[in-house]
Amino acid sequence: MGPTSQNSTAAPVVIIGGGIGGLAAALALCRKGVASHVLEQSSAFGEIGAGIQLGPNAFQMFEVLGLTDAINRCAVFPDALLMRDGLSGDEVTRVPLGAAFRERFRYPYAVIYRADLHRVLLEACQALPSISLSAHRKVTQVRDDGERVTVDTEGGAAIHGAAAIGADGLWSAVRGRLVNDGKPRVSGHIAYRAVLPIASVPEDLRWNSVVLWAGPKTHLVQYPLRCGELFNLVAVFHSDRYAEGWDVYGDPAELHERFSAARPEVKALLGKIDAWKMWVLCDREPIKEWSKGRVTLLGDAAHPMLQYLAQGAAMALEDAVVLADAVDSCAGDFATAFQKYQAQRYLRTARVQLTARFYGDVYHAAGATRDLRNALLMGRAPEKAFDGMAWLYDGIRLSGE
Ligand SMILES: Cc1cc2nc3c(=O)[nH]c(=O)nc-3n(C[C@H](O)[C@H](O)[C@H](O)COP(=O)(O)OP(=O)(O)OC[C@H]3O[C@@H](n4cnc5c(N)ncnc54)[C@H](O)[C@@H]3O)c2cc1C
Repeated sequence: MGPTSQNSTAAPVVIIGGGIGGLAAALALCRKGVASHVLEQSSAFGEIGAGIQLGPNAFQMFEVLGLTDAINRCAVFPDALLMRDGLSGDEVTRVPLGAAFRERFRYPYAVIYRADLHRVLLEACQALPSISLSAHRKVTQVRDDGERVTVDTEGGAAIHGAAAIGADGLWSAVRGRLVNDGKPRVSGHIAYRAVLPIASVPEDLRWNSVVLWAGPKTHLVQYPLRCGELFNLVAVFHSDRYAEGWDVYGDPAELHERFSAARPEVKALLGKIDAWKMWVLCDREPIKEWSKGRVTLLGDAAHPMLQYLAQGAAMALEDAVVLADAVDSCAGDFATAFQKYQAQRYLRTARVQLTARFYGDVYHAAGATRDLRNALLMGRAPEKAFDGMAWLYDGIRLSGE
């Protein structure tokens, strides 16, 4: 079935969570003629957080979803991905993102303000009558009644649908019902994020690149946002602090202490921020099955990962497109479609989850491990770097390709 065709499904698919994954799922289903109802617990659909990196595989999904032009209008296209040693300042590796990269991977690499990415998805959903969006709906229970699903919301009426998708993120309540594997794994790594006006950044550090300063048990990522008007900083360090949720402020004193041995450039950037938003970084072991009957999971709810490959949102976008293809090919048999979708996604998302952990170790290396990292990566030809990324950035095979 094509984008304008109608699926026989009468009741909408209920999508729990209106983040990047939930909205992408609504759009992808709509393209297959399947209506949906997105339930978001917050009082409004929106995004907090800072910048986000978008690999070529994310752009492959934007093309499918018809969002390429809207994304291009608010994304920044950096010249390179750089890793610098956080102690010596030496350049460890440089992956140019120009013509050769685009030719190799068919799509570009970009960075974008999270709120802009979310807005593009939201506006696309709002323009489509077959997508209903309800804020202030915290889902408490999802039941598969055989012929349909029933979704209970806090203080609200039950909502019925043909099927349900838990796109409710790292702390997914739907996952608790389907998989029941306890809380996410606390990695022991903390991220502090901030966005500042470009005018506050020292001129000699205003590079149009994604730069990662890799130090022992610490790293800092910097890149420009919004046509270069803003500047994104993500500082990560090992810590045993623990706080759930996405709306907690960090302690600058702890940050400065953890980065006390870092390069002056790193300290100069860290010194520009007083109020940091803090994330306690968690993931889970990969699992093979995250669907039961007419209920499935998507994005971080299904396969939460550390952000070291910058791929969590991209995986959610891919999930959405693959899931909609499976629903389309199974002509309204959601249980079969969800099995097919998870089988297609399991190994790819597991590889990203596990590789992200490994990248964290590489970024935070000390002593001989750091020396080995630098020796192996320094002087690497771009083509070698491209080959190493191909499994990820080549994207996925889509139905009809
Ligand atoms: C520091 C950091 C940096 C990152 N950098 C990148 C990057 O560069 N590139 C990249 O691709 N990814 C990155 N990620 C990962 C990315 O942010 C996530 O993978 C992505 O946001 C997952 O989207 P999601 O829709 O699955 O979940 P979420 O974005 O968590 O959305 C879930 C939504 O569900 C709602 N919800 C939750 N529970 C309920 C409920 N019971 N009822 C109703 N609604 C509910 C929430 O309010 C939320 O709106 C990063 C993550 C972190 C922490």
